[in-house]
Amino acid sequence: MKAIHLMAVETEPDLAVLDRLSASLAGVFGISCRVLDTVIDPAFALDPARNQYHSTAILQAMQPLVRKPGTHLLAVTPVDLYVPILTFVFGEAQLSGPCALVSTHRLREEFYGLPPREPLFNDRLVKEAVHELGHTFGLRHCPDWRCAMASTHSVERLDLKAARFCERCWQIVRKP
Ligand SMILES: [Zn+2]
Ligand SMILES: [Zn+2]
Repeated sequence: MKAIHLMAVETEPDLAVLDRLSASLAGVFGISCRVLDTVIDPAFALDPARNQYHSTAILQAMQPLVRKPGTHLLAVTPVDLYVPILTFVFGEAQLSGPCALVSTHRLREEFYGLPPREPLFNDRLVKEAVHELGHTFGLRHCPDWRCAMASTHSVERLDLKAARFCERCWQIVRKP
C-alpha cells in the first residue's frame, strides 16, 4: 500500500512543522502520511567551503530508512542544500522514488531580510514538498506554471504556483 513517511534531517526538529506538513500532504495525495521519529544529523554532508549541504549525499543516507516498498520517504531539513552544478536547491528527489528531500532554509521570509510570515512559509513548504514527492511518483517538470510540478528556482515563482497537481500530472500520481 502506498504511504508517505516524513522525517527530519536535523537533530532537534520542529515537530509542529512536520505534523502540519503531514496533514497537508495527506490531503493533496489522498494517502496515509505519518512522521517517523528517525532523524539524520546532516553534518556529514557539509561542504565547509560552500557552507552548504550536499543534497544527493543526504538522499543516499535516507535510502536504508525506507520501511517497505510503496513507501515514499520525505525528509525536511533547515540547512541550505546544493548540488555541485547549482548555487542552491530548494530540494531534490529520486525520480520514481523512494526518497525526497526539502530545505526550509530559503522558504522563510527572514532569509530575504523580511519579517517572518508563518502562513506563507507553510504554503511554500507544502508546495516544495508536493513537488519533490511528485518526482518520487515518477513525475518530471510540468509546463503548466500553476502546477506543483512546474520548475521553480525562486520563491517568487514558488508563490505563483499551487500546492496541487494539474490534471495530467494527477493522473500519473494516482495510478495504482
Ligand atoms: Zn523538480
Ligand atoms: Zn502538471
